[in-house]
Amino acid sequence: MKSKKPESKFVRIAKKVWKDSVGSKIISIGLIALIPLIYGLIKDIPYGQVWEKIYNIEIRLFYVVLVLIIGYFINRQLKRSRKKLEELKTNAIIKPTYVEDVFGANKTKWAWDYSWDSRMNHWAIVRLTPLCSDCGTKTDIVERFDGFKAECSKCRLDGNGYVDSLKEYLEDVEKEIIRRYDKILEKG
Ligand SMILES: [Zn+2]
Repeated sequence: MKSKKPESKFVRIAKKVWKDSVGSKIISIGLIALIPLIYGLIKDIPYGQVWEKIYNIEIRLFYVVLVLIIGYFINRQLKRSRKKLEELKTNAIIKPTYVEDVFGANKTKWAWDYSWDSRMNHWAIVRLTPLCSDCGTKTDIVERFDGFKAECSKCRLDGNGYVDSLKEYLEDVEKEIIRRYDKILEKG
């Protein structure tokens, strides 16, 4: 196995100085100061004038950097809002799978479906009905003289009692579905 060459004292100090942020800054400044000196020597320009030239370039550079920074933040913001929009779209396009739940003091089980409302750009709850308390079939909501009833066609067919009185308001159930669905979306 090859053994690592031991580092010279100079390398070790250099590394230490470089790692130290103050040290590295001093070196950087030193290098930056050295470059115009060499440039001035080659081009035969006085040191002060070289700085003037650099100063002019720096102002231009400053604007370039400023534009780049602003551009970066605008781009980041755009990306974020695009991602948000994409999320919203996905939520909107995929038909919700939440189609059944228990509501109200009587713990009635309800089922529903969704239909895409292109005018409002969202899924609208449709065919919201309570399930038969005996067999769990979707009932038909009908208005009788003494109020709304949920009638089960299967129980009627089988010759059993088929009328449940509707104990919840449809609007309340619908609002609760929307509330619970929003919670599901929040959780992800
Ligand atoms: Zn039934």
